[in-house]
Amino acid sequence: MDTLTETTAAQELISQGCGGDAALGAAEAVIVARGVRRTYGTGDAAVEALRGVDIDLARGRLTAIMGPSGSGKSTLMHILAGLDEPTGGSVVLDGTEITDLKERELTQLRRDKIGFIFQTFNLLPTLTAQENIRLPLTIAGRKADEEWVRQLIDTVGLGDRLTHKPAELSGGQQQRVAVARALVGRPAVLFADEPTGNLDSRTGDEVLGLLRRSVEDMGQTIVMVTHDAHAASIADRLLFLKDGRIVHDCARMGRDEIYEVIKSLEDAR
Ligand code: ADP
Repeated sequence: MDTLTETTAAQELISQGCGGDAALGAAEAVIVARGVRRTYGTGDAAVEALRGVDIDLARGRLTAIMGPSGSGKSTLMHILAGLDEPTGGSVVLDGTEITDLKERELTQLRRDKIGFIFQTFNLLPTLTAQENIRLPLTIAGRKADEEWVRQLIDTVGLGDRLTHKPAELSGGQQQRVAVARALVGRPAVLFADEPTGNLDSRTGDEVLGLLRRSVEDMGQTIVMVTHDAHAASIADRLLFLKDGRIVHDCARMGRDEIYEVIKSLEDAR
């Protein structure tokens, strides 16, 4: 088989069992990963968390990374975000090969190009909501675009809570602060790690709505790791991992279809 036939055959295999593959098409890739491997430990104790992952992620889309526990989701996200180094392969983020960067350059890249949202919100408890939202700009010594900050605060609906500290806010409100904080620097990519994992379904929906709006209205690129089929149903594209490999690459799917794919992966363990 020539390379093109091999690639097409692999793609057909990957897109089986879902609503069709979600290839990049004409859209520009903001993340290009090739042959990404990550082994933890050595010798008999070695664990191959990623076994050769290739991805092109289009700008302005929301991609969900799913898969059973231990399939490599967190490892992949950490590597794409420059928080962990792969054992092999390359990752280009917004035009920069990140696997060659020194720690100081990586810190700067994360500060300038990446936003994060975590399951546990990770706000600074001593700062007000407003100060938390502006924190990335403060740290980078960047002047705030006041119009943009106002627009964000408006979008996340926190106008009357800006002087409150995180402990005085509900979980949903804290996560909305975290979303605004992640967007304030207009990152090339926003990484969200189980963003609704600590929220009830109503507040979870508010946060998902916010993420979706940032894609529609601001052209934000989002990569979201989640176990939750409902959360993943807002994604434009879903990548399913199993044993450190992408086994399905799908265009938008409904919640029930997502459950089916997850179940088939868990049953096949
Ligand atoms: P997921 O996020 O899908 O649950 P992870 O990326 O956390 O999966 O883990 C993938 C595999 O790598 C698992 O087998 C896990 O036990 C292993 N692993 C993850 N982190 C470490 C680590 N720091 N040391 C050793 N093994 C690890």
